[in-house]
Amino acid sequence: IELANQIAAGEVVERPASVVKELVENSLDAGADQLVIDVENGGIKRIRIRDNGCGISKDELALALSRHATSKIASLDDLEAIQSLGFRGEALASISSVSRLRLTSKPAQQSEAWQAWTAGRDMAVQIEPAAHPDGTSIDIQDIFFNTPARRKFLRTEKTEFAHIDETLKRIALSRFDVDITLNHQGKRVRHYPRVKATDENSQRRRVAKVCGAGFADSALAISANAEPYQLSGWIAPAEACRHQADIQYCFVNGRMMKDKLLSHAIRQAYERYLLPERVPTYVLYFCLPPQQVDVNVHPAKHEVRFHQQRQVHDFIMQAVANALSQQPQ
Ligand code: ADP
Ligand code: MG
Repeated sequence: IELANQIAAGEVVERPASVVKELVENSLDAGADQLVIDVENGGIKRIRIRDNGCGISKDELALALSRHATSKIASLDDLEAIQSLGFRGEALASISSVSRLRLTSKPAQQSEAWQAWTAGRDMAVQIEPAAHPDGTSIDIQDIFFNTPARRKFLRTEKTEFAHIDETLKRIALSRFDVDITLNHQGKRVRHYPRVKATDENSQRRRVAKVCGAGFADSALAISANAEPYQLSGWIAPAEACRHQADIQYCFVNGRMMKDKLLSHAIRQAYERYLLPERVPTYVLYFCLPPQQVDVNVHPAKHEVRFHQQRQVHDFIMQAVANALSQQPQ
């Protein structure tokens, strides 16, 4: 069992940041709107995440740590329109097999909290009473301590921390309604307070927290609708683009994607209105019916394939071009 888990871990867990991503997605699936992530030594020594979600009952703690026991896929249809972020049912088991993991949880309707962890070659689940408020904490120490080949691929603590930071930026841009705190070595390094999802001004404040005021203050708001497509977000005009080449966030139906078709469409719009050597800088949200897009379910990839490529491309290009054409010259 342990070997199978460790092999699966190679798929799910590449580095501390991938652990953070899996854990945050679980917390969001659990309905949490407050997350605190504590990191030590770039996550190599320790990653701890605390949420205020629905919690895991005492009876289900062992299941949560077993592979495939809790797949969120109810039917094949779900695969086509993935609603919840987690759907492979193996992240916790995988992470637990390559680290020292402790899971502590208390559902609101349960009077006491319990802590679970696995031990030994057969990964038997141990459990004991604990003190914990409503919600769940997962404490992961010494990632890859038992898989030296993987540990070798870890970079410096600084680099690993930067990956965690980037992972949380993407989450922060996709969930304005969730309060996120990131601490490193006991010091708070990021705080993204919850903002009203409907208010463009408060959304812009979160964008400023994530992408910097330089981008947020100068970005043009985009809002375009052409059935069945919808594009919203922000795009920076030429002047604000300097030194900001890394601000290129595109979310497709709420998930961060790096898609060539989308970046090409955006670039074309830019070339029409700006010096072509400017690097487009944007935070964009594209929504379309889920059955018109295939999402590569590999956890580490962010790829999509649109069924109507030309229509999507033209819609995005038009919407971005329209927004850019309205900037004061
Ligand atoms: P998956 O998310 O694919 O179901 P995971 O291994 O990531 O598989 O998680 C296993 C199960 O543990 C989840 O299905 C969920 O029931 C439970 N779980 C994990 N993290 C949390 C959390 N933060 N809050 C509540 N339940 C959780
Ligand atoms: Mg999961």
